[in-house]
Amino acid sequence: MTYQNTLAFATQLDEQDPLKDFQSKFLVPKHKGKDVIYFCGNSLGLQPAIAQQYVSGIFNNWKELGIEGFFAGGDPWLGYHKQLTQTLSGIVGAKSEEVTVMNSLTVNLHLLMVSFYKPTQKRFKILMEGGAFPSDQYALASQARFHGYDPKEAIIEIFPREGEFILRTEDILEAINKHADDLVLVLFGGINYYTGQCFDMEEITKATHKIGAYAGFDLAHAAGNVVLKMHDWGVDFACWCSYKYMNSGPGGISGIFVNEKHFNNKDLNRFAGWWGYREDERFLMTQDFKPEIGAAGWQLSTSPIMLLALHKAALDVFEQAGGIIPLRTKSEQLTAYLEFLINGINQDKNDELFKIITPKNKQDRGCQLSIVCKQNAKATFNYLTENGVIGDWREPNVIRLAPVPLYNSFKQVFEVGRILRASVD
Ligand SMILES: *Cc1c(COP(=O)(O)O)cnc(C)c1O
Repeated sequence: MTYQNTLAFATQLDEQDPLKDFQSKFLVPKHKGKDVIYFCGNSLGLQPAIAQQYVSGIFNNWKELGIEGFFAGGDPWLGYHKQLTQTLSGIVGAKSEEVTVMNSLTVNLHLLMVSFYKPTQKRFKILMEGGAFPSDQYALASQARFHGYDPKEAIIEIFPREGEFILRTEDILEAINKHADDLVLVLFGGINYYTGQCFDMEEITKATHKIGAYAGFDLAHAAGNVVLKMHDWGVDFACWCSYKYMNSGPGGISGIFVNEKHFNNKDLNRFAGWWGYREDERFLMTQDFKPEIGAAGWQLSTSPIMLLALHKAALDVFEQAGGIIPLRTKSEQLTAYLEFLINGINQDKNDELFKIITPKNKQDRGCQLSIVCKQNAKATFNYLTENGVIGDWREPNVIRLAPVPLYNSFKQVFEVGRILRASVD
């Protein structure tokens, strides 16, 4: 598509947008009495308008049914999580049984590493992207230490080449092959939180399996953002949070994926709890642990039903939108439009004032653009904020802007372009 830097053009794209009515399904914070332009769904998605009603439903059942709420009422709490797995499995590209919701993200990363990080004296290393989200770095380092290894030795981080921001797939694959004899696990983000780079998960998984290691992904910035095919790509395991692109509230419930080929893999350790016990026999309270078949067998504790209700509200909006495919189609256009407007400023000023470090190819990125500001970076960010644009700031000079297809419009993208241009003028 050829884009134009005019309000009329943006308005026309909005009019043609099959998802244009979805904005009204979200509650938008105000700035000086006006709705903000919220480009921060990569950190915390907006509140779905129906969320409060879903949670109220749980309050009501609790009030009226007490403990019976687990078995009675419209949505019994026992098995409530199964109402989510259908939609969720579509979002991450999995079979229903390969997905469940439990705990929060870093907790799940640890639990999955209990299963999939199986170091031996000879093979104990983990390959990860350099500059991963700090929580992942801490989690992996502490896992290595827990098994008696020095993280400096056990964890191999791979960085972009000198002068580059983006990791080349060929370099990732080469690193995997180079360490073929000592890697047991390759654990990458699906999308890097800082640069917005979407990794080639299929190729990484293939190369990892070739050397006999497991491949796992942290999908925090990928789930609900790009089209994923965890099952078809043969990924061993994955986890994600629900509060970024899945709008399920601060600290919302996390999700996990375990490939069905591991359902009966007796080599895997797992930490067990009663909620992972076979549901049909859970209340017999027997002594030895019989896990539920599928990802649900990794659950430990009674589901936090309030969080599940928030997640269900948000996922129901995803369903109404037709799932990830139509969302992604709009998302690619929104982001390409933002990119066009930003590059237009650079062209007109004859200077790369805003250097987009996120990959140019749409298959190598999600909705987020990470912009290195050549000058007055913090002032530019503050100017956006003062003008009602919520983005997010990363030291030392990066502004991340994430137009999301559910509640952002082309007109908003146009506005952000206009404000950025005004900040330079
Ligand atoms: C957001 C994010 C987290 C946050 O983890 P929590 O346990 O939910 O606090 C972890 N890892 C990545 C890659 C993230 O983007």
